[in-house]
Amino acid sequence: MQVTQAYRFALDSTPARRRALASHAGAARFAWNWALAACTTRHKAEGKWWSATELHRLWNQTKKTDPTLGWWAENSKCVYQEAFRDLDRALREFVRSRNGARKGRLGFPRFKKRSQCRDSFRFSTGVMRCAGRTVALPRLGTVATHESTRKLTRRLDNGTARILSATVSRTADRWHVSFTVHVERPAPARHARPGSAVGVDLGVTTLLTGVADGGTVIEIPGPKALRTRLRKLARLSRVHARAQPGSANRAKAAARLARHHARVTHVRTDTLHKVTSALAARYETVVIEDLNVTGMLANRRLARAIADQGFGQARRMLTYKTGWNAGTLLIADRWFPSSKTCSDCGRRKPNLALSERVYRCGGCGLVAGRDVNAARNLLVLAASGAESPNACGGDVRPGLAGRSPAKQEPGTTPGVGETGTAAAQATATR
Ligand SMILES: [Zn+2]
Repeated sequence: MQVTQAYRFALDSTPARRRALASHAGAARFAWNWALAACTTRHKAEGKWWSATELHRLWNQTKKTDPTLGWWAENSKCVYQEAFRDLDRALREFVRSRNGARKGRLGFPRFKKRSQCRDSFRFSTGVMRCAGRTVALPRLGTVATHESTRKLTRRLDNGTARILSATVSRTADRWHVSFTVHVERPAPARHARPGSAVGVDLGVTTLLTGVADGGTVIEIPGPKALRTRLRKLARLSRVHARAQPGSANRAKAAARLARHHARVTHVRTDTLHKVTSALAARYETVVIEDLNVTGMLANRRLARAIADQGFGQARRMLTYKTGWNAGTLLIADRWFPSSKTCSDCGRRKPNLALSERVYRCGGCGLVAGRDVNAARNLLVLAASGAESPNACGGDVRPGLAGRSPAKQEPGTTPGVGETGTAAAQATATR
């Protein structure tokens, strides 16, 4: 199976190399702004913009005649070209969003300001390679990486991967390269453990509670990456806010704060990757809830805890990783009462406070952890077939009102009548 995936490496760069990286990022920003100005001028006169190809041609003429652009050759020509492509895409997507041809509302592209936009640039042609603890990039040459590139190198060597492009960007004080790679992955015809299933409840107190077929309970407490680092974050923010604007101390405080934020993100992403990989490898069918992440983030008391766990990310990772393992991700309907239903007798509690961490059933006397009870209910859906298949799961089954959960971003609200019938079917099967 052919998949497009990213391999991202942190770069270890010398001061000279860092200047070259910053110069390329500046060139990309300049090219974007130059092209945006050219497009705006033309649009005023002729009512249309330049395409990426036209911009490239225009740039090639201008850079040779305009003496103030004499520095262009210090950076790879690819960087300018890719900035024009980015602007071309941004303009086209802006028009599509205006016409309602795409989801979301996009604003008109804006000029980029140093210090206020991400330092980033891209190569799509030229020498892009990796070996050991180095990567080779056009114009920049060989750059040391912070970690070994062996996973990608091995794939490049045996011909199961091809690099399409390389995006270099800065997060806090560290530069990263992200290779977009076309990978030929062995497509297993069946999952390694056919028939295995797990119901997964994503929670705030526990990152993840899973109940596997056979009743095994898996509990992942979650790194609470942000919570433990929150006091430090508050202190760093305070120092930053109190420093004189424009001073050297302010800049130093900002850098420390950015580093701390980046660290939090890394810890969270790492945990999520490990957990989702393990689940997708071990179970053929993974059932999760369709969480309304945006809606939950609107709850001020819970927002930080939820954002800290990265529910949206967990779901996205499970979607593609189950696909790689020939498994299926099932997403229960958003209104499926997984927490409110007794996993033993099926009786439902209409009102279940979020503070009730233990589920006590008034009917059969079941006492179970709230998350465990919810996960057991989700596991039942794996067998009942009353659920939504993921992108790799094949056809949309009847009774789903044509909703494809894999395409629906977490947080978008389905329209009335589109809510699916998974909940009704699931209760009917009991
Ligand atoms: Zn019960």
